[in-house]
Amino acid sequence: MPVPNARPSLEPVSAEVDVAIVGAGAAGIAAARLLRAEGRRVAVIEARDRVGGRTVTASFGGHPVDLGAHWLHAGHMNPLVDLARARGEPVRQAPPGGPVVTNGRVGSGAERRLHGDAFERADRAFARLARAEEDRSLKDALPPLGRYGRAVAYTMALISGRPLEEVSVKDFPSEEFGNNYFVRGGYGAFLARLAAGLPIRLGCEVTGIDWSGPGVALETTAGRIAARAAIVTAPVPVLQADRIRFRPALPSDIADAIGGFLAGAYDHVIMNWPGSPFRTADRLSRIVLRDTSYGMLTNMDGAPFHYLELDQATIRGAGGPAALAAFAREFLRESFGARAVARLRVLHVTDWCADPLARTSWVVVPPGRVPIREGLGRPVGERIWFAGEANSGPLWGTVGGAWLEGERAARAVLARLGDGLPHIPTAAETP
Ligand SMILES: Cc1cc2nc3c(=O)[nH]c(=O)nc-3n(C[C@H](O)[C@H](O)[C@H](O)COP(=O)(O)OP(=O)(O)OC[C@H]3O[C@@H](n4cnc5c(N)ncnc54)[C@H](O)[C@@H]3O)c2cc1C
Repeated sequence: MPVPNARPSLEPVSAEVDVAIVGAGAAGIAAARLLRAEGRRVAVIEARDRVGGRTVTASFGGHPVDLGAHWLHAGHMNPLVDLARARGEPVRQAPPGGPVVTNGRVGSGAERRLHGDAFERADRAFARLARAEEDRSLKDALPPLGRYGRAVAYTMALISGRPLEEVSVKDFPSEEFGNNYFVRGGYGAFLARLAAGLPIRLGCEVTGIDWSGPGVALETTAGRIAARAAIVTAPVPVLQADRIRFRPALPSDIADAIGGFLAGAYDHVIMNWPGSPFRTADRLSRIVLRDTSYGMLTNMDGAPFHYLELDQATIRGAGGPAALAAFAREFLRESFGARAVARLRVLHVTDWCADPLARTSWVVVPPGRVPIREGLGRPVGERIWFAGEANSGPLWGTVGGAWLEGERAARAVLARLGDGLPHIPTAAETP
């Protein structure tokens, strides 16, 4: 794994706090900031040796490239866009989509419009059927779309993180697709700046949470942390793998919600491609070859770095990053010719499902299981809250959604702290 390019300075954590937070990704950072701002004693415990979780920016030849999240989606409802502006961060609106290239030929304006219309028709059909009483899969909801039907189906499966038949149409709101932003220097580096000054212990894994007593006790690889309440932001597939043992076991409705999600997959082939046929910066182009279709973000931040986007079926079918690198090169060679790819170098292929502390890119709700997002948000024994991208309905699978859910959990904890959760004395207060 390439190393992150931003390492904020952090404060040490105490062994007795008001709120213990598991995980220093977007949800954990958001919760910690809010609780700190309210004067609460917080400890964030993070198993990795860095903050950010599924947002991390690495340097390739001195150029920052995000290995996880890169788009600040849905600017009108994403709190991180406003926060970035308020802090004077270099945030900018993403340009409109790039060209549609079909079998090596750049489509005309009319063809691009045809592709765009097909996408919008699918989106409208999903939105309409999401309001119907009966739930169904995205596959069953997809209308006939003509010439670009297969390409649009590919894109929808890529966005959803699973094959269309495995995704509920009621859990696929379309707000995410529009009004996107980028932050120069990377989303991961931005999140790392937001973590600066927080009490976060890195390289320390939470292995168990004991809530049999009045508060909670976190069992970690570096000892116990006592707290009045806990916010758990570990990704759902990590919870499904029982990486954190709860004592007593979680109530059946929460365990059922956790078990109901599917691990979605989405990865990037990160390429350095001087002389690529794509000239404009930060545009998401669509490359259609025979009956396949892949997105490519070109010339990120104006430098010759590109992402080829990989969907779950391609990731699963290829059998590992080396095979995906070879696949990407061959796909682009077939599309643009051997000369065009002569200077293309694959720098890295992400593999988030193989990361034991993520096991997914984002989680997905299968047909018939829509209530599980809300179910996951219910407190356990008025002492433990789960928060993260999995909780978010409107901003599902995004950093902005995880951030809002971290803040939601923090507010819920605050309300309970003011309402009689047992006080855990600090070492100094202990006689
Ligand atoms: C390749 C890729 C591209 C993406 N693109 C975008 C995008 O462009 N825009 C967007 O908005 N979203 C995107 N996403 C999704 C986005 O990254 C996630 O939705 C978001 O980062 C999730 O934040 P979180 O806080 O819920 O979880 P995480 O970021 O996963 O944070 C959870 C933290 O918990 C830690 N942890 C886990 N188990 C333990 C334990 N037992 N003890 C202690 N710590 C533990 C983990 O190490 C992690 O740091 C992308 C994801 C991927 C993988």
